Amino acid sequence: MKSRKELEHLTAYIPGKPIDDVKREYGLDRVVKLASNENPFGTSEKVKEALHEAVDQNLNLYPDGNATLLKEALADFYDLSPENFLLSSGADEMLDLIAKTYLNPGDEVLLSEWSFVRYRDVSQIMGANIRTLPMEDFHFDLDAFRDAMSEKTKIIWLCNPNNPTGTLLPQEEILSFLKEVPSETLVVYDEAYREFADPEQVVEDSHKLFENFPNVLDVRTFSKIYGLAGLRVGYAIGDPDILGQINLVRGPFNVNSLAQVAARVALEDQEFLQKVYENNLEQKKVFYDYFERRGLSYHPSETNHILFRTPLPSQEFFEKMQAKGVIIRPMRDGYIRVSIGLPEENEAFFQACDEVLE
Ligand SMILES: *Cc1c(COP(=O)(O)O)cnc(C)c1O
Repeated sequence: MKSRKELEHLTAYIPGKPIDDVKREYGLDRVVKLASNENPFGTSEKVKEALHEAVDQNLNLYPDGNATLLKEALADFYDLSPENFLLSSGADEMLDLIAKTYLNPGDEVLLSEWSFVRYRDVSQIMGANIRTLPMEDFHFDLDAFRDAMSEKTKIIWLCNPNNPTGTLLPQEEILSFLKEVPSETLVVYDEAYREFADPEQVVEDSHKLFENFPNVLDVRTFSKIYGLAGLRVGYAIGDPDILGQINLVRGPFNVNSLAQVAARVALEDQEFLQKVYENNLEQKKVFYDYFERRGLSYHPSETNHILFRTPLPSQEFFEKMQAKGVIIRPMRDGYIRVSIGLPEENEAFFQACDEVLE
């Protein structure tokens, strides 16, 4: 069977192996996963309680396709209106819906070299013409975007702070750039890691960017600091007309009932977020110290992960670490991305890394 020609050069996303598979394969008792930027504290206890109760309620019925209560909770939280929100099955699905809504074959999109891989894939699936721009010291180079931007540009994919580099562009740079983007170009402003960043540097009230820039969509997720990656909830905040167009492409029941309950309660438990944030801030410094002691180059991060470089090829380093029970994410050219975990998980990483590099 021949698939669409747009799929010819796509490769399937290879997620990190699950912990149990690695245990079995290498005969290990303990395996630490620092590969997918997941929340090392798990899920808020309040969310778990709410989920226990929700299990007894009408799982035989389809979920509320409009996610009404969740939108209302988000509207309260951000001081906006429910129509400024659209929910998706993880932010991943939102990226996909955006591409399906706006990209005709041959439309141009701009993205950066080291950024989230799904921007490229969802654009390619729609047959877009992808322009990959170089970075400046592992930061988005907005001048490169300015030079590349034209009336042919349909979507600009930005991630701030960025995965996998962990780098952040400050508010002034983002705002002055947005002013120059033509109003017919959609800017996807992915803030999956916003809550981990320095609050002084992120775009203040980015959830209200659409008020001045209706062509900007702020994309968020419950997978990272909220600890709900397994339930799949993400959303976009933006202009109701734009969200209405994307809504035409969305499947009617894309966010399941349990996910809707969990997200709503998770929003209320900001104490949980504070704990995760503080651990991340503290442990980030422990990583920096380690990398400096070992003479490994790294990029200071405003997220829950760090990009660093070892003398070994990425894949070889990854396999040797995995054999020692530490799963990390190999990138390319010797670069590795590690997620910041709990102190004992990070210790396991340092020890394995010492052994591999000796
Ligand atoms: C993790 C991540 C997402 C998607 O997360 P979901 O689990 O699909 O909500 C989106 N963007 C970036 C940059 C990410 O790292």
